[in-house]
Amino acid sequence: MDACTAVERDIDKVLSKFTAFSEHSSNTLTNLRSDIENLKREIDQVGSGELTEAQALILTQALGRVKEAVTCLSTDHRDLHSSVSKVGKAVDKNFTPDFGCISNDSVFSGTKQQLLNEVICQHFFRQGLLTIAEDLISETDLQLQKESREPFFELNRILDALKARKLEPALEWAKINREKLRAQHSSLEFKLHRLAFIELIKEGPHKVQEAIQYARLHFTPFVYQHEKAVIQNLMGSLLYVKEGLVNSPYAELLSSTQWGEICDVFTRDACALLGLSVDSPLSVCINAGCTALPILLNIKQVMQQRQVHSMWNTKEELPVSLMDELPIEIDLGPTCRYHSIFACPILRQQSTESNPPMRLICGHVISRDALNKLTNGNKLKCPYCPVEQNPNEAAHIHF
Ligand SMILES: [Zn+2]
Repeated sequence: MDACTAVERDIDKVLSKFTAFSEHSSNTLTNLRSDIENLKREIDQVGSGELTEAQALILTQALGRVKEAVTCLSTDHRDLHSSVSKVGKAVDKNFTPDFGCISNDSVFSGTKQQLLNEVICQHFFRQGLLTIAEDLISETDLQLQKESREPFFELNRILDALKARKLEPALEWAKINREKLRAQHSSLEFKLHRLAFIELIKEGPHKVQEAIQYARLHFTPFVYQHEKAVIQNLMGSLLYVKEGLVNSPYAELLSSTQWGEICDVFTRDACALLGLSVDSPLSVCINAGCTALPILLNIKQVMQQRQVHSMWNTKEELPVSLMDELPIEIDLGPTCRYHSIFACPILRQQSTESNPPMRLICGHVISRDALNKLTNGNKLKCPYCPVEQNPNEAAHIHF
């Protein structure tokens, strides 16, 4: 952020110079133009006769002034160039241009390139940028299953409608998927009906009858569920429609955030139903990277200054289990926590696929590496409780 502020300061300087130059040059040019026009008028008055010596002198002087002003303007213009190039230098100075040290070229080599393209493509589909996604497919020869695109088309169509405050497509979708939504304890359909009801009572007392009809028709299936209290609340609001809901205890029903909320609920529940993650995996990775990158660059600098390269550069010296770990812990915030991590209490290492957590028969959990180290012949003594057991009886734990 500091870097952005520093560059912004330079940009502001250039912009104010540009404004000053533009004002100065237009003033100068206007003055010169009016001078010349005056002269021209005087010369025209003389007619075809010869110019007097005094007139010739005035003309030469005017020409001199024009030349001088032009030189002055071009010098100012040249100065502007140097200010603009200073911004470039400020950008170089404030931002690290070399990210080579923290990337790993082999990560996207070979077939993984196609996987990367697929992730980018799915991101575009999610965002509703269909033409860009199609172009990417044709340019990269991506073989994308038809089924992997269609859910996004439908989601985007319904979301666009919701954003335009149209409930019908979402209601239709929720009705078709009612059983599946209910199985995942989604109250999307009810929330959509609730919003439709609120839209009706918002219009005023003449819509109350219609709202009651709507409630009878659509709320009945939900009365026996946990939405009962919400329905009672909605019915209670009918008493105040005549006097205006704004000043009633039900004013919160008019809150404008409800449309944003319904979009979120729809995205979350529809993604869960289709087995998709709510956020695009690409944007999650990029956001995580943006948070982690400055910290990694900082630690790299510190490591270079203190000459402790070995932590990062000579990976081959590290045990395999440490190769997947970063040299420091980076907290990406609660939104980026997807699953629990097990750290072995014996070896103080994070578990990995090759070194998973193992549950001993006494209930204590240690990593497989620790288990192998503690095994003596065919016997293992738990490091926490002295229960002796066969290491083969330990079970692999999946989080
Ligand atoms: Zn134990």
